[in-house]
Amino acid sequence: MIDADALPGSKPDLPQAPLPAILDAAIIGGGPAGCSAASWLAQLGLSVAVIERGPRLCGSLQALTYDQDWLLGQPGESLAAVGDRYASHVRALPGAHVLVHRSTRHLDWQPELGWQIHLDGETLAATGADLPERQPLRARALVLATGFTPRHPAPLYPAGPRHGRVMDAIELTASRDNLPPGRLLLLGGGDNAIENALFLQARGHDVTIWSRSDWRAQTHLLQQLDARPGIRRRPAQALPTAVTPQADGVQVSSKAYGDEAFDHVAVLLGYEPEPSAWLLVSDALQRAGVTAPSQPFRDEPRFGVLGLFVAGDASGRQHPCVQTALGDGVVAAKQVEAFLRPLREAQPPLALRRNNRQVIHITGLRFGANLGVLDFEREGPQPIQVDAEVNLGAQTIVSRDADIGHVLDYRRVRLIIIDECTAEHTDLLEALLGKLCTRLMKLPGVVGVRIKVTKLEIFPDCQVAISAECGQW
Ligand SMILES: Cc1cc2nc3c(=O)[nH]c(=O)nc-3n(C[C@H](O)[C@H](O)[C@H](O)COP(=O)(O)OP(=O)(O)OC[C@H]3O[C@@H](n4cnc5c(N)ncnc54)[C@H](O)[C@@H]3O)c2cc1C
Repeated sequence: MIDADALPGSKPDLPQAPLPAILDAAIIGGGPAGCSAASWLAQLGLSVAVIERGPRLCGSLQALTYDQDWLLGQPGESLAAVGDRYASHVRALPGAHVLVHRSTRHLDWQPELGWQIHLDGETLAATGADLPERQPLRARALVLATGFTPRHPAPLYPAGPRHGRVMDAIELTASRDNLPPGRLLLLGGGDNAIENALFLQARGHDVTIWSRSDWRAQTHLLQQLDARPGIRRRPAQALPTAVTPQADGVQVSSKAYGDEAFDHVAVLLGYEPEPSAWLLVSDALQRAGVTAPSQPFRDEPRFGVLGLFVAGDASGRQHPCVQTALGDGVVAAKQVEAFLRPLREAQPPLALRRNNRQVIHITGLRFGANLGVLDFEREGPQPIQVDAEVNLGAQTIVSRDADIGHVLDYRRVRLIIIDECTAEHTDLLEALLGKLCTRLMKLPGVVGVRIKVTKLEIFPDCQVAISAECGQW
């Protein structure tokens, strides 16, 4: 049982000041990215709260007790020790509030109010907040720094209660020092799989490593693998069709090897951004009438104007590591500062000035097009009607005339539709819709397209239309 109060990231180094009624920024997730963002925000003189659902800051690094050499300037030091220092640093920053063991239950966003964060667990009053019990935390900006979670592909990582026989990367890291030597299967071909293969074989395990593609690990790991012939290798092999935990082991079934028995299986097939907070954000934005971000949620200007930013592994970056997470935290803090600057200068909030979604509508556009697979359709053009909506996303509200060169000219949209439909004969309506979507989506500033093409005279008694939607709506 972990004594949360005894952990460096969970126990305040200094007494925390009461939370202000409105924070400049709230950060969901207290890993390296969240800590880095908090540190910069506090040093920029902004008020910030880090909301961490675990018992301590940088808890994700606690199991990483081995010597690492990815972090520049800190070779041979464990990430667990590095994480302790990040946590203590953030704890000591005036202006930074640390709320551990807190989950976000619900989020709201409104242009005038910013973000409202409803927390589970102990009430804010218990944290010294200067707020009535159960009142949501309010923040002008929100940073998602919720990290990633291992992928659990269904046939390989059976759902349900954990039994310890089939593990993901985090479960393996937590237990690998104490696993009794036995037959061990590692599914994966990246750094994590190879490093574990080397580590576990050195501890007396009979290791098989199995990857659907060729090995993708760092050269020095592959050289070490080459020097260990005892590790069975199955590169570029279709993965098992079933992994079935049993009382005394795991049955692994595959086309290439039939049924095999292992003592343990580790599924090391990558990670995906942790979805919990992103789902709450999406829900809040949908309710506010704003098109929600897709997962992985990357920085986009249309969310920046709402005071919404992302940092670290949560952004689904190509190479997740502590160093990139720290850098992301700095970038997010600077983005928050830039977002808040107009507010501080008493201007209307950017969100108010820019949450004006604009859509160009072209309705009832009729002309002849060479379209269709029927004989008579090949003889010449037939009348069609095109209805289109072109989503330009959030725009700055302009209350006086501006140069036409600064906006997307709807005459151009109309001409592109006619040109695309008449340039050549197209057999299928579906293909014509695809061509139109592709061409319109390439226009500057366009984030989504809805299009409907109607054959007006294909039948004497009805019209036929197909519509398509792509991009963001
Ligand atoms: C087995 C393993 C080995 C690794 N080895 C290395 C290495 O040697 N060197 C290296 O640089 N990197 C390594 N990494 C990667 C490194 O740990 C991550 O890239 C880094 O921690 C990312 O930081 P982050 O802040 O983006 O996310 P995380 O460290 O994952 O932090 C996210 C935090 O958000 C919290 N959270 C999530 N959802 C919510 C929510 N809804 N509400 C509140 N809190 C929430 C989580 O509890 C967590 O504390 C390793 C990772 C693993 C899994």
